[in-house]
Amino acid sequence: MAGALKKCMMLCCTSKIVSKEEMAGESYEEAITSLTKLLSEKAELGGVAAAKIKELTAELDAAGSKPFNPEERIRTGFIHFKNEKFEKNPYLYGELAKGQSPKFMVFACSDSRVCPSHILDFQPGEAFMVRNIANMVPPYDKTKYSGAGAAIEYAVLHLKVENIVVIGHSCCGGIKGLMSIPDDGTTARQVLYVAIACVS
Ligand SMILES: [Zn+2]
Repeated sequence: MAGALKKCMMLCCTSKIVSKEEMAGESYEEAITSLTKLLSEKAELGGVAAAKIKELTAELDAAGSKPFNPEERIRTGFIHFKNEKFEKNPYLYGELAKGQSPKFMVFACSDSRVCPSHILDFQPGEAFMVRNIANMVPPYDKTKYSGAGAAIEYAVLHLKVENIVVIGHSCCGGIKGLMSIPDDGTTARQVLYVAIACVS
């Protein structure tokens, strides 16, 4: 929506109907109102302004009614990565193709709002990650919680990470569920399962 709006404003500017300064920061509705006002004041611009209003209205309708397409979202996301990152950093990705030597191992919550790479600006190859609900680091056990245990073993013994970071966050549903459990001697295993159940 924001991208479409920006494009729309640019088109308006090139048409010299309304100045860039006048259009900057306006919403679709405000832009249409401005053009309608201009149309009433300057008859000679009638044809151009009317066409622009029609274009804006069509874009607004399309943005509001277009259903979310998960396949298209994945496709455009990958194309953006390929064009803007992969192809612009051939050396980095060439080196990563040979192996990884991350400096960090990170435990973070699965919450979609707290991606460590986004928040801490980790680049590809910088952080080996485990994400689960409420960024849990279970106690060592050869049979239980083996997924997290295997990740720690691989990161420490083979990748030789130098730093292990556990990232919590505010408004965590997993921690909220965990803290709501009565203090009646519940075992760690039960606590973990309850925390998962509360946010799933
Ligand atoms: Zn969380």
